[in-house]
Amino acid sequence: MPIKSRIRTIPHYPHEGIMFRDVTTLLKDAVGLRTTIQEIVNRYRTSNIDKVVGIESRGFIIGAPVAYALGVGFVPVRKPGKLPAETMGCDYQLEYGSDRIEIHTDAIRKGERILLVDDLIATGGTMEAAVKLIQEMGGEIIECCFVVDLPEVGGRARLEKQGQKVFALCQFE
Ligand code: IMP
Repeated sequence: MPIKSRIRTIPHYPHEGIMFRDVTTLLKDAVGLRTTIQEIVNRYRTSNIDKVVGIESRGFIIGAPVAYALGVGFVPVRKPGKLPAETMGCDYQLEYGSDRIEIHTDAIRKGERILLVDDLIATGGTMEAAVKLIQEMGGEIIECCFVVDLPEVGGRARLEKQGQKVFALCQFE
């Protein structure tokens, strides 16, 4: 388990009762980083991906080298107010309150084949918002790809119910 075994768990972070899966210990490890990127790249090598879309901020760390290796462009989905040109956004619910993500309106062309990337899926709320943005822009989502899935939280099932394909390199119960 070259990937899962390199992910550190921090109990009670950022809140009491949360088991935070910390991928920085995977990323700092030469074999861990290389294996992570290579496994994702191998999966999509023949998928005719046009662009990789990564979600701020750990989705950038994973998504950019994947895009580089696939020989395609990288598009950031960011927290509100961070992108300099015209944006479109999507609000989504958190356990307490709400959040928003944004993308440049000219980042994706209609019909482009998109790979969506983030480090981890929990409730799936963040990725669901990203999916909505890409769909509004006319992109074709090939798959939502994660390093970590927390299946008990239900995000994968939520996305699959909406017709999305979901892939994760490892799972934590
Ligand atoms: P979701 O929207 O509930 O699926 O939460 C996923 C988002 O929150 C991702 O962008 C993750 O980076 C972040 N996140 C939630 N829980 C964790 C965790 O345990 N470790 C690392 N990131 C997390």
